[in-house]
Amino acid sequence: MIRLSHITSYLTCPRLAYYRYHFGEEIFSERQAVREIYLSLRRGLGTDWAKQRILATNKNFKDEIFERALNKFVFSKVLEDLRCLDWDVVFTSEDLGVSLLVDEIVEFREERFPLFVSLNAPKEGVWLPDQIRAGVSALITNLNRTIIYYAYSGEIRVVDASIGVRRRALKLIERLKMIKNGFMPKRNETNYCKLCSFAEDCKQTPETFASKFL
Ligand code: SF4
Repeated sequence: MIRLSHITSYLTCPRLAYYRYHFGEEIFSERQAVREIYLSLRRGLGTDWAKQRILATNKNFKDEIFERALNKFVFSKVLEDLRCLDWDVVFTSEDLGVSLLVDEIVEFREERFPLFVSLNAPKEGVWLPDQIRAGVSALITNLNRTIIYYAYSGEIRVVDASIGVRRRALKLIERLKMIKNGFMPKRNETNYCKLCSFAEDCKQTPETFASKFL
């Protein structure tokens, strides 16, 4: 099944999404650290518990990544206004063939929102991956508005899943379906290539005519 993380990987590099979909990749990122810190603090369980959660589920835990995230993390008072209904919730749409892990479901003024934790806030609005998270989430949960918690500034931003946002999310799902069917996207050389665990294979894998459509 296509996961939300495959879809957001596509935004980093379409070919990376191919590799992650077909071969998997267990990484430990700053975003994962921030997410676990958020979930533990929201339950009043402290940051040691966040570390335990990661150690239990991710064998690539790195202390320096966790400490970096912890040093920048802001636990804002505005979160007190959001009533937690559930957390770490998986939604699946058999029709779309997509599954989605929502960090938290919250209630504010009698409206339910999926909430995702992110790192630095842009000057205004939200980053594209966060907009896509909101779009995919709306397609699967039917909750039209999503909250993004920018953990390094303690800001909350709300994304409306407009028709345009949903359409963009659908288009990415379609691209992932093509990848699932074996289409290999073209290379997208960026700074990320220096960190990419698939770099060697990627260099040796030629583009095909079909790559141009991804
Ligand atoms: S090496 Fe670069 S182009 Fe190739 S999959 Fe990784 S990020 Fe994409």
